[in-house]
Amino acid sequence: METSAQTLTHDLVIVGGGLVGASLGCALAPLMERYGLRVAIIEAAPLPASPQHEAWQPSFDARASAIAEGSAERFRRLGVWSEMRREAAPIRHIHISERGRLGATRLDARDVNVEALGHVIPNAWMGRVLHRQLAEMEELALEWHCPARVERIAPVAAGHSLALSDGSELVAGLTVLADGGRSGLKEQLGIHSQAGDYAQTALIANVEVSQPHHGVAHERFTAEGPIALLPLAGNTMELVWTHPEGDEKARMDLSDGDFLVALQRAFGDRAGRFTRVSKRYAYPLSLVTAEETVRPGLAVLGNAAHALHPVAGQGFNLALRGVTDLVDALESSLSEGRVPGDMATLGAFDRKRARDRRSVVRFSDGLIRLFGAQWPLLPQARAAGLVGLNLAGPLRRDVARRAMGLER
Ligand SMILES: Cc1cc2nc3c(=O)[nH]c(=O)nc-3n(C[C@H](O)[C@H](O)[C@H](O)COP(=O)(O)OP(=O)(O)OC[C@H]3O[C@@H](n4cnc5c(N)ncnc54)[C@H](O)[C@@H]3O)c2cc1C
Repeated sequence: METSAQTLTHDLVIVGGGLVGASLGCALAPLMERYGLRVAIIEAAPLPASPQHEAWQPSFDARASAIAEGSAERFRRLGVWSEMRREAAPIRHIHISERGRLGATRLDARDVNVEALGHVIPNAWMGRVLHRQLAEMEELALEWHCPARVERIAPVAAGHSLALSDGSELVAGLTVLADGGRSGLKEQLGIHSQAGDYAQTALIANVEVSQPHHGVAHERFTAEGPIALLPLAGNTMELVWTHPEGDEKARMDLSDGDFLVALQRAFGDRAGRFTRVSKRYAYPLSLVTAEETVRPGLAVLGNAAHALHPVAGQGFNLALRGVTDLVDALESSLSEGRVPGDMATLGAFDRKRARDRRSVVRFSDGLIRLFGAQWPLLPQARAAGLVGLNLAGPLRRDVARRAMGLER
């Protein structure tokens, strides 16, 4: 690829049409309308509505995500919330406990005067809604390359040039990497990441319970790792069961009946009896943070910037704050006549994001380390912490606000 100055083909190119790239595409609509921005989205996997839907990975798979109230607000701004909420189950209480200990913390929507602390939405549904919205943006200058993979990326005077697997060569003033971080593009640009392997794997499935869940989300810490149960429609709950790496294999292979017995033993009876389990999926877990998230003509968003442990359900919520902050920064820069890839704009955007990113990474990672550690007096301290947190109104409200993705 040439690295000299080249003519811009697009003002902004989004690499990856997963949860983050598709949300950014939707969020850009007003700017495209107002400033005539030429935008392209490049997505390697076929679209969710296509016959190969089963193969649509990794954003729009069988998982469901806990969407904080702050994210619901952002989806409202993108014009997709009324559709999203059709398949959303509200979280009215969060129950945090440790197996074998007395302490427990209950966070309640009423503590913070809201109807729901968050919502659980199937990822496949979020994908459908976002992509339907993008399809309706056809009259704007939105170009799709799908399925197509960005194979090479290099800086040029005007921004970055991108070579695609469909033979196209694009030159973008601003390139947003929303590729999930596993495509090798960051590395092509010399952007390093800090990676910490949790040596854990999340086993995901839907389970049916014998009693109504009443909108309660459970976070239960066990000696093996945390178990999260999130309310879905009816008596169904989304299970995120963390295992030491390798240990999940035996559980994946169990018959449904044996699996339900093992889950009941590990989780206890708090949510009722587990009566049915869906197909199971496994996700290796790590903490990956990119060392650089902006450069002239480049921004890194979503999992490409930060892949977190899913225990606190913060990864996409954090990413969506990045999406709307980037659009706000672009808006003010365009209104002053600056181009989208301008470093002053991106630098200011990144300084704002860095604080939020650091605090969420610390929160999710700290939770895992606190409940994963085996120091002799720690279980008592954790139990006391959970009981104490339950008694301490303002602190509990703080945690609830964080769970909702609201600024503190
Ligand atoms: C088990 C689990 C549970 C989770 N639960 C929650 C939760 O409850 N709440 C929450 O907020 N977060 C949760 N998360 C985190 C959330 O899933 C991620 O933050 C989110 O999926 C990140 O989306 P993304 O678009 O950045 O990346 P991805 O989902 O990885 O999507 C990247 C897209 O880029 C495409 N792509 C890749 N390479 C290229 C290329 N070279 N060219 C073109 N396209 C390319 C891919 O096909 C893909 O569609 C969870 C994560 C896990 C693993």
